[in-house]
Amino acid sequence: MIPSTLRQAAQDANGVLLAEGSGDHLLTAVTIDSRSIDGGELFVAIPGERVNGHDYAKAALDSGAGAVLIDDVERALATGADPSRLIHVASTQDSLGLLAKANLVRVRERGNPLVVGVTGSVGKTTTKDLLATILSSRGPIIAPPGSFNNELGLPLTVLRADENTATLVLEMGADRIGNLEHLTTIAPLDIGVVLAVARAHLGEFGGIENVARAKSELVAGIRPHGTAILNADDHRVAAMAAMADTVVTFSRNGNGDVYASDISLTDEGKPTFTLHSGDETARVDLGLVGEHHVANALAAATVGLVAGLPIDQIAASMANLGAASPHRMDVWRAGRLTVIDDSYNANPDSMRAGLDALSRMANGGPSLAVLGAMLELGEDSDREHRAIGESMAALGIDRLMSISAPALAEGARRVGVETIELESIDDAWHVLRDEELTGTILLKGSNGSRIWQLADRLKEDL
Ligand code: ATP
Ligand code: MG
Repeated sequence: MIPSTLRQAAQDANGVLLAEGSGDHLLTAVTIDSRSIDGGELFVAIPGERVNGHDYAKAALDSGAGAVLIDDVERALATGADPSRLIHVASTQDSLGLLAKANLVRVRERGNPLVVGVTGSVGKTTTKDLLATILSSRGPIIAPPGSFNNELGLPLTVLRADENTATLVLEMGADRIGNLEHLTTIAPLDIGVVLAVARAHLGEFGGIENVARAKSELVAGIRPHGTAILNADDHRVAAMAAMADTVVTFSRNGNGDVYASDISLTDEGKPTFTLHSGDETARVDLGLVGEHHVANALAAATVGLVAGLPIDQIAASMANLGAASPHRMDVWRAGRLTVIDDSYNANPDSMRAGLDALSRMANGGPSLAVLGAMLELGEDSDREHRAIGESMAALGIDRLMSISAPALAEGARRVGVETIELESIDDAWHVLRDEELTGTILLKGSNGSRIWQLADRLKEDL
């Protein structure tokens, strides 16, 4: 962050200092976690589910925070915090966004950062991680850890930028209409990428056309002279071209400006393909497992090309990324098993991609899918689960262990896949531990189904 005085921060945050006396004091960073304070930070008190940041106002100052941003004066003062270090605002979450917005304006006045935002129903984090690798050759780069993509994670990422930042990569998630409008108001984009409009969070949106509308807000949030990078293979994404000044498309076949040909998979399940842009080509050996990552790689490569990087360099840097982030298509051995740990999350599209990877990697050997439920599918839920179960026979998957997902089990049984139904992660752990398993297993389910806990136990104890 570009350092700012307490007085300036109060103004940026649309707030007031509770008492005079410390206005000239300098703030050098922003945090919402009082445990991460080293000195000089603005601590933003967020009322969380378990703890309320306001209760740590004094503790944060005692640890060296320069000031605390609050929206509950009584609660903050009750800790005994010095009022001249308290900035009072209407909503700390909203003001966090305002602070980030003001920081980016100053960063742009003094420097020349390329701000890239990525959205889509699947593949955001993977593409963000690929971008962090590809674009690091431009100089100092800021990209969030994990899936920092919401109204807290995004501003915190933007607040890490300063005048030396060459590239700022942002993951932008949307649970509802208006989310991306809000996030792009904080961070207007130079390059905006839309990966896919799929059935994630359908229940909350109430229909796939609303998902498309929500994602299109990212395109509307691109600055004049900026570029929209759109997936030509997804007709709802391709249609967003109408809203953008400059568009570059990517495609897994020949339909885009940037495209792939000769896609194949190595024995480890990693895609290799030829990357095309105009007359230029380069061979890509992707470091990630699963053919579905070709689309993410193309999106990231397109950003690299628009940013002016040579195609060979882009291709070379994509080989360097291992399993992107924990529990995302992370492949490891446990005893005599090969585990495909994709337990971070699931929706119907990513479930199909995961099962496809299982089928290819098992390559005729034993294959077991350990699957939890896909949450947030609304009234389509049972139908989607049954369809996934039914798709397993055609993929040649031998066995399903379903955990609290009865419709999935029903679908798999109907097509003759051997199925065990379990109710808990604990039960699944016992079965996996006690059986002499060999072959390849896929671990996958929505985050809330906690299959990742099973992955952690397998990794530690098997
Ligand atoms: P979230 O909304 O949870 O932050 P995300 O959009 O960041 O998700 P990733 O974390 O990159 O997505 O991937 C989530 C899951 O989707 C993983 O299982 C991954 O393998 C799968 N996935 C990624 N890209 C695709 C794709 N293009 N098609 C199908 N599945 C995909
Ligand atoms: Mg993510």
